[in-house]
Amino acid sequence: MCGIVAANAERNILPILIDGLRRLEYRGYDSAGIACLNDRGQLIKHAEVGKVATMVAGLPVDLVGHIGIAHTRWATHGAPSRENAHPHLSEQRVAVVHNGIIENHLELKQSLLKKGYAFDSETDTEVVAHLIESELDRHDDSLSAIRAALSQLKGAYALAIFIKDNPDRIIGARQGSPLVVGIGVGEHFLASDAAALVPVTQQMVFLEDGDLVELGRDAFQVSRLDGTAVDRPVRISSLPADSADRGPYRHFMEKEIHEQPEAIASTLEAHLDGTRVCPSLDRGLLKQVKAVHIIACGTSYHAGLVARYWIEKLARIPVSVEIASEYRNRRPAIPANTLLVAISQSGETADTLAALKHSRESGYLATLGICNVPESALTRACDHILMTRAGLEIGVASTKAFTTQLTVLLLLATALAEAHGAPEKRNREVLEALGQAAQQAREVLAMDGAVLEVAEEIANKPHALFLGRGEEYPIAMEGALKLKEISYIHAEAYAAGAIHSGVPYGAA
Ligand code: GLU
Repeated sequence: MCGIVAANAERNILPILIDGLRRLEYRGYDSAGIACLNDRGQLIKHAEVGKVATMVAGLPVDLVGHIGIAHTRWATHGAPSRENAHPHLSEQRVAVVHNGIIENHLELKQSLLKKGYAFDSETDTEVVAHLIESELDRHDDSLSAIRAALSQLKGAYALAIFIKDNPDRIIGARQGSPLVVGIGVGEHFLASDAAALVPVTQQMVFLEDGDLVELGRDAFQVSRLDGTAVDRPVRISSLPADSADRGPYRHFMEKEIHEQPEAIASTLEAHLDGTRVCPSLDRGLLKQVKAVHIIACGTSYHAGLVARYWIEKLARIPVSVEIASEYRNRRPAIPANTLLVAISQSGETADTLAALKHSRESGYLATLGICNVPESALTRACDHILMTRAGLEIGVASTKAFTTQLTVLLLLATALAEAHGAPEKRNREVLEALGQAAQQAREVLAMDGAVLEVAEEIANKPHALFLGRGEEYPIAMEGALKLKEISYIHAEAYAAGAIHSGVPYGAA
C-alpha cells in the first residue's frame, strides 16, 4: 500500500501533485505516475519506475492541468514496471489510482476480457478502470456507474478516479485503505495521508470504510456506496507543514531517534496529571478488568509483549498478546471482564483493524486503542483511546513511536495496578522512574559516537543474534526486526535463558 494524491483546482495542480508525492516518498515505493486533463482537455498520463524525481523529469515541461490524480506504487500484483505503474486508464476515458488489493480481480478480468477489454498491465487495479468504463454507458451519471463498479469489488482499496466525460469532478472511495479529503478555498484535494496535503490545507475530512466522495472545486459530497449522503466532520490537521523535513539529520530514522526524549516527555505529560495516571480512563472500568488481551502487528506487537511483563507484575492481571493477523483466524475464548487493547502507530494497520472488528461480538468488557494518529480508523473504532505523542513518524523502522507506546503501556499498567489495590509506594516508584526516561534517553543518545564504532564493526557480518531475558526479550525481538528492516542482515532474537555457552539447547 503506497500513496495517492489528487487535486481539483483553478490553479495548475501539477506542482501540488508532485509535492504531495514527494511527501509520501517516505513510505517506500517502486514507481510513480500522474494523470491529468491538460488545458486543452486531453487526458495525459505519465509513469515511470523508480523515484518521483525520475517520473517528474519525463513530464512535458509546459504541462498545465486543473484536475488530476497521482500515485506512488508498491507492487502487489505485477512487477514494478512502467506498464504496471499507475494511473491505469480505460479507453482513454477513465483514469484510476489505487492503494490496496482487489481480491477478486481474476474473475472480474475474465468477464471484462469477454466484453472485449484489452489489458495493458498485470495489476489488479486495471480491472477497476475497465469495470467503471463498462458501467458508464449503463448509467445516467458517472457516479452511479462508479457505485455499480465498486459494489462488485472484493478486497481493500483507496481509489482516486476521474472520468474524461465529467471533467470537473474527482471521485474518491475508501474500503480498508486510508483516504483523506483536503478542503481549500475553491479547490479540493484527496490523499492517502494528510502529510501529503499540509502545504495546501489544514482542513481535512477523514473518510470511513464504504465512503465515496465527489470532489468539485467549490464543494464536495461524501456518500455511502448505496448513495445515502453522509456528513463527516471537518478536522484541523495538527501536522506542521514542515513535518516531513529532515532538518540537520542524514535520514528520517536518525531524526526520529533523536526526537525520542521530547516524544516520551510529551506522551507522559498527556497522561500523567500530577500523580493521576491516565486520567481519561474510567476508574470503575479499570477495577472491573480481570484479564487483558493485546492485539497488534510488528513493532506494536513487541511493545505489547513488553507490556505483558509490566501489567502482570504490577497489576497481577493475566495478559495475552497476539499478532493481529493470527487473532483474526481463530475464535478466541474470552474470560469474563477482559479488556482488549489494540496497538497501532498509524491507527490504519489493516490486520489490527480487522482483528478489532472480529472481536466485536466476543463479549469484551471494552476496547482500548493505543495510537499515534488522532484522526485514524483505530481511534474511531475503539471505546477508549490513549494517544502517543510521537509526532509524524516517517522512518521505516519504528523508533519514537515504539518508545512512546512503551511509555503509554507502562502508564496503563500503573493505572491498572492502582485500580487493583497495588501498594501505592511501588506505583510511585514506577512513575518516578518513568519521569527519568526522557533524560535517560538523552544520555543514551549522547553515546552516538560509541554506537557508531560498534556499528562499523558489525556492518559486514551476515547474521546477528539479539539476546534478552524477561522484558528485555521482546526488546531483543524488536532489535532484530529493526536490523532486518533497514539492512537486510539476517537477525534473530533469542531468549537469553535458552542459550548456553553460545549454543542453543537442543542444538548441542
Ligand atoms: N495492488 C496494486 C498494484 O499492485 C496497488 C499497489 C499499491 O497499493 O501501491 O498495482
